[in-house]
Amino acid sequence: MKTPVSVLGTGRMGSALARAFIKNGHPITVWNRTPHKAEPLAALGATVAESVDRAISASGIVVVNVSDYDASAALLHGVAGTLRGKLIVELTSGTPQGARGAAEWAKAQGANYLDGAILATPNLIGSAQGVILVSGPLAAFTAHKDTLLSLGNVRHVGEDPGTASTLDGAALSQMWGGLFGTLHAIALCEAEKVDLAALAQQWTESAPVIEGLISDLIARTKAKRFAGDEQTLSSISAHHGALQHLIEITHMRNLDPALVEAYDEVFKRAVAAGHLDDDFAAMTRFMQRSL
Ligand code: NAP
Repeated sequence: MKTPVSVLGTGRMGSALARAFIKNGHPITVWNRTPHKAEPLAALGATVAESVDRAISASGIVVVNVSDYDASAALLHGVAGTLRGKLIVELTSGTPQGARGAAEWAKAQGANYLDGAILATPNLIGSAQGVILVSGPLAAFTAHKDTLLSLGNVRHVGEDPGTASTLDGAALSQMWGGLFGTLHAIALCEAEKVDLAALAQQWTESAPVIEGLISDLIARTKAKRFAGDEQTLSSISAHHGALQHLIEITHMRNLDPALVEAYDEVFKRAVAAGHLDDDFAAMTRFMQRSL
């Protein structure tokens, strides 16, 4: 028999997680604060528990997926005595600090704890695109890897329980950088009466260029190669000059300048410190406000 798993929280994501375990033949027990939302899973073969402690006692692995860490803590703290010897897999989104605090608390209850970040939407869970990063004790991950792989492309990213959440924040930052940048691009095209079809085509062509710049930025920062050299793709000076044109047109067309002015604030710190000729990667040193 495959390893039994309990899932606390059967919202959109929790239900997808439970379905993926069921599809892989794991006996599943689910609990949800609003019981009727768990009923569709019963039709698929899940046992719907009447209480959190009954759900926990049904399995050695307890997957938690509720809206936030406060909700999760309220659930688990209420049944602390039932957690000894269990593996808690916290897949609720949160902060690195929250993950570390939850890990400490779980350890004090005699439970193992893995913290995960889901980088996918519910429809992708159980597939290769269902990327889930997990951090915490490698031994706990390795022991239950086969079970966790039911959820998709599940990867262990570090012993520090805060690592998955940190990478989740990094992914959100990159995603919103692109999405908010595109909001500004759309506003600019609309103000200048440029067909959005042209923007769509340009994006297809420029996306690989931007991807190359981002990969280069990460690699150079890791290698601390901040000074401009023969491999530099573009200096701070080149980026800073181009931004001034974007700021000008933004004000001329009465667009919201908040984004472009925020970029300029970081440039100003780098320029004031004399880094105009450095590689763009030197900008990473000016993202900390204390510098
Ligand atoms: P959702 O559909 O709104 O479900 C929220 C779940 O949390 C429901 O089961 C809800 O129970 C439960 N809940 C909320 N407050 C609670 C409380 N105080 N006590 C007990 N249960 C409580 O949201 P979701 O999309 O499934 O998201 C769940 C988590 O997955 C979040 O942390 C989210 O950031 C993360 N996530 C979601 C996605 C996504 O694409 N949906 C992607 C990545 C990560 P009720 O049914 O009783 O309200």
